[in-house]
Amino acid sequence: MAALGSELRTGSTGSPRAATGANRPPQRRSQPKGPARRRPEARVGGSAWQDWGQQRPTGSAPVAFLHPMAPSDPAASAAAPPTPGPANPVALPARILVVGGGGRENALGWALARCPGVEAVWIAPGNGGTAGLPGCEVLAIAESNGEALAAACRERAIDLVVVGPESPLAAGLADRLRSEGFAVFGPGADGAQLEASKQWAKALMMEAGIPTAGYWSASSRQEALELLERLNRPLVVKADGLAAGKGVTVAASVEETRAAIEEVFDGRFGAAGASLVLEEPLSGPEVSVFALTDGRTMVLLPPAQDHKRIGEGDTGPNTGGMGAYAPAPLLDAADLEAVRRNVLEPTLTALHSRGIDYRGVIYAGLMLTANGPQVIEFNCRFGDPECETLMPLLGPELAAVLLACAQGNLAAAPALTIAPGCSACVIAAAAGYPGEVRRGDTIHGAVEPSDTLQLFHAGSRREANGHCVTAGGRVLAMVAQADDFDAAFEGAYAALQRVSFAGITYRRDIGHQVRRRPSIPPT
Ligand code: AMP
Repeated sequence: MAALGSELRTGSTGSPRAATGANRPPQRRSQPKGPARRRPEARVGGSAWQDWGQQRPTGSAPVAFLHPMAPSDPAASAAAPPTPGPANPVALPARILVVGGGGRENALGWALARCPGVEAVWIAPGNGGTAGLPGCEVLAIAESNGEALAAACRERAIDLVVVGPESPLAAGLADRLRSEGFAVFGPGADGAQLEASKQWAKALMMEAGIPTAGYWSASSRQEALELLERLNRPLVVKADGLAAGKGVTVAASVEETRAAIEEVFDGRFGAAGASLVLEEPLSGPEVSVFALTDGRTMVLLPPAQDHKRIGEGDTGPNTGGMGAYAPAPLLDAADLEAVRRNVLEPTLTALHSRGIDYRGVIYAGLMLTANGPQVIEFNCRFGDPECETLMPLLGPELAAVLLACAQGNLAAAPALTIAPGCSACVIAAAAGYPGEVRRGDTIHGAVEPSDTLQLFHAGSRREANGHCVTAGGRVLAMVAQADDFDAAFEGAYAALQRVSFAGITYRRDIGHQVRRRPSIPPT
């Protein structure tokens, strides 16, 4: 008999019924009321900031997205240092270790190195572009090597560790470093289950009353196939564990659902596929929301939208993300408040009630359905490329805010300012991505990071002769900021013309939802 979620729900189909067996339809839950209920229309052009600005200070002053207890300082400038006062003591981390080797970690390192008071940022293991980032140094230690990372923290008197990827978090790196007294931004292995186990996350969502698709758990092939036979409709198949973003199949037919179940139990995802979740399909645009939290209170970042598919027009296989933009106008500030109320705060409460002191990012992947936003996934870290897109918008308080999260005193941190304007990110991938890719091609060209243009390396490696070569599927993230999305994307695409490697490939329609001038540059 299949193990069922304690209560099954769906935001898309079904009528209110107690679900005690796989043959019963998921129970419908009441949908959140208020602005988040409506299905947002994608707006085009540079309207995002105007929406965000309506309830914020006018003019070019940056917006502060405040946690409930933080004092607001509307006059604060994104260029000004944090302003601690006697009632607002703020610790500033001077020496920071960022763990991870992708574009996300380079963006984090770059943004943290810009913060006043930060003297040095090490990125372990980093990549070919890390050494070129102002204020950042490579530390050649694998993200999985907790012992060596702890030793490096001791040797370098690290004030703050920021763990980028999910794998070391799920493996307990944050716990390990905390046990030695280091301040770590990133949840322990208990909290990382939000991402590392779909079953665990779904059960938590049920407990907390968070809007999400109805689901069934199965821990064997037979169990899953029996469920499918009874339900007899196409379902979303999700390997339970970490599968590098590849463990989900949105099946269009019962046959495809069956094939996806077989694939999971045939071992395609290794240990991550020892069990699975079957989910009701939802539909609607997707948006990512990030909460920085100290386990009790939180700061929300502007919502971001990424493009998962490899092909223009959002076609073809899923990838790690081919580009992104922020703030995504799909959610305005009132919508985001509703997401905080209906999703993020109940999540934090549910984590707390399980004895989990979650200090890091909660990334809610939302689908904006006709019945309101529904959570399709939680991640325990920043998204990539959303992180590259968001970091340039964040103010100089970032380091203090992340340290405050790590220390459990976010309420005392300065308000995090968000620069006005739009940020656009385009990923340049190696030929063949997301399949087998060629490696070792020299990357030509460079972009000095500035306030409005950044080139973050992802899948790259620096050779002994100093040349940077390709070393992964997603190779570079070009990010630009401007007053509107048209100008931001034009900036990113123009800068992409200045870099090259054999087989470089990128989508020319990133941000098509928000661009009025989707000029297509030559590839
Ligand atoms: P996940 O790893 O859970 O985020 O899933 C990867 C992608 O699969 C998401 O970005 C969605 O596009 C899609 N997806 C996940 N769950 C569902 C669902 N219940 N209904 C429709 N699409 C889904």
